[in-house]
Amino acid sequence: MTTLNHQWVLASRPQGEVTPDNFRLVEAPVPAADQLADGQVVVRHHYLSLDPYMRGRMNDSKSYAEPQPLGQVMIGGTVGEVMASKHPRFAVGDKVLGMGGWQEVSVMDANVRGALTKVDTTHIPLSAYLGSVGMPGVTAWYGLIKIIGPKAGETVVVSAASGAVGSVVGQLAKARGCRVVGVAGGADKCQYVVDELGFDACIDYKAHPDPKSFYAALKAATPQGIDGYFENVGGMILDAVLLRMNAFGRIAMCGMIAGYEGQPTPMQNPALILVNRLKVEGFIVSEHPEVWPEATKELGTLVATGQMKFRESIAQGLSSAPEAFMGLLKGKNFGKQLVKLI
Ligand code: NDP
Repeated sequence: MTTLNHQWVLASRPQGEVTPDNFRLVEAPVPAADQLADGQVVVRHHYLSLDPYMRGRMNDSKSYAEPQPLGQVMIGGTVGEVMASKHPRFAVGDKVLGMGGWQEVSVMDANVRGALTKVDTTHIPLSAYLGSVGMPGVTAWYGLIKIIGPKAGETVVVSAASGAVGSVVGQLAKARGCRVVGVAGGADKCQYVVDELGFDACIDYKAHPDPKSFYAALKAATPQGIDGYFENVGGMILDAVLLRMNAFGRIAMCGMIAGYEGQPTPMQNPALILVNRLKVEGFIVSEHPEVWPEATKELGTLVATGQMKFRESIAQGLSSAPEAFMGLLKGKNFGKQLVKLI
């Protein structure tokens, strides 16, 4: 059994963009099996999930969640294998999902509800429980199904379309008979979204850096206007989408990554919400645990049967986590960003 655990702690809060010195690598011993308290489970992480929400937690500002404390292991979803257990429901060798954080090994209190979940890897790869069949997949499912409520024949647009959330949104909307248009950064990402994921069209916002040009491309791709918009980015993309929304359209406000490092993301014409009688609803997936069973059942079936495609960007080794995270905030990832730890 591994005896030494490597961990990334938050060393300082970013001023604007995240820098490597915001993180510090430390070591801690792994407790031996006979040192565990009742209910404790030791998990060797196989993958760490890197997610945009972590950027918000690094700030000490008012938000929907408490800030990440300085000097403590960075928060993060993990999947791995049980190495030792003093809990009757978990046995050595079980594959599990939890919030193990940016470290190689975690000691979890499995008596805490939801802290550790056993996962079945017979038909679904372990890493997918951090992506399409995990938190990002459920996020896509909630925003699309519960907020946008897509109907066959409607047009749905999603930004950050090649990513962990966006790729699921588009495939679920296609399965419900919608015309689906993605927005992504770069020709490669757009080609993947259309050719591999089956979207009807994708607009490369980097090829249309000015609002007029982007709007023209969006108009051409949405001849019937837009009924549902799944927002992951904000800024120029949201402004252009608002101009194309049909009356009584629905917008799921999921993320605004264009502003996560402090960039201003003004909205040019909020009156369009009124004029078009739009429903605009923000949501945080962790506040909707009630949809998890229904959402993961559909997502799990689609992934297990190969009907839902996904792509991963995998950084190797715990030491690569800060750089991979900084890359995620600049669009360097192509699909779900993970760190492989074993
Ligand atoms: P992705 O896998 O989509 O990765 C992030 C992507 O965002 C990048 O690949 C990049 O794609 C895009 N991006 C990064 N920076 C910018 C920028 N400055 N301007 C425009 N696009 C940018 O991440 P996720 O799928 O995990 O997350 C997508 C969104 O969903 C995020 O906004 C996240 O915060 C949000 N989210 C919200 C949740 C909730 O409960 N509300 C839960 C989970 C996620 P590209 O190269 O195409 O621009």
